[in-house]
Amino acid sequence: MTITFQSLGLSDACVQQLETLGFTAPTSIQEEAIPQLLAGRDIFGQSQTGTGKTAAFSLPILDRIDPDNMNVQALILTPTRELAQQVAEAIKDFTGNRRLYVLTVYGGQSIDRQIRSLQKGVQIVVGTPGRIIDLMDRKDLKFDQLRWAVLDEADEMLSMGFIDDVKKILQKTPKERQTACFSATMPREIRDLIDRFLNSPVT
Ligand code: ADP
Ligand code: MG
Repeated sequence: MTITFQSLGLSDACVQQLETLGFTAPTSIQEEAIPQLLAGRDIFGQSQTGTGKTAAFSLPILDRIDPDNMNVQALILTPTRELAQQVAEAIKDFTGNRRLYVLTVYGGQSIDRQIRSLQKGVQIVVGTPGRIIDLMDRKDLKFDQLRWAVLDEADEMLSMGFIDDVKKILQKTPKERQTACFSATMPREIRDLIDRFLNSPVT
């Protein structure tokens, strides 16, 4: 049997949008991660760059997010501004004409603009840990309705010194959230973080 995006459990709207983007068949991490995330499981994903991790975590979130709820429902943490921008662009591509609001936040960009966007209502936040903490401390970013937390390139966040910020952020999110962690390597600090913040994750 050929594995298709449809057979992984994604919606017709999602599959149609993927066709528009020229995504015909899932990559192996997409094949493994998408059904688990759709089923509500936490996941730890270890794979090389360029294997399609962004779609692996974004597509299930986009299919399950509540478009009528204007609170932050998904948080994606990335080590750098460039990666945050890339992930946000990919999410916008995957979203197509489904109405969802995505905000990218990172240091060096006007915080007032980010705050105004948050006040208007944003459902998906993609950003670097430092700026996320600033916005949390100012109470401009609230996670009481957060359903998904994604740590993209967790080992990079560790090597850049962001791991305590990542933990601080996760501590302030609802326990019932679903968590996905991606890392090319598995140093002890990442293993500890997974033990502490992921709930019986599938690897
Ligand atoms: P990673 O995060 O694992 O490094 P990305 O999510 O950035 O990889 O994807 C790498 C590239 O592959 C991107 O240009 C993306 O659009 C493309 N891509 C991902 N999945 C597929 C797919 N199933 N079919 C075609 N292209 C894909
Ligand atoms: Mg990536």
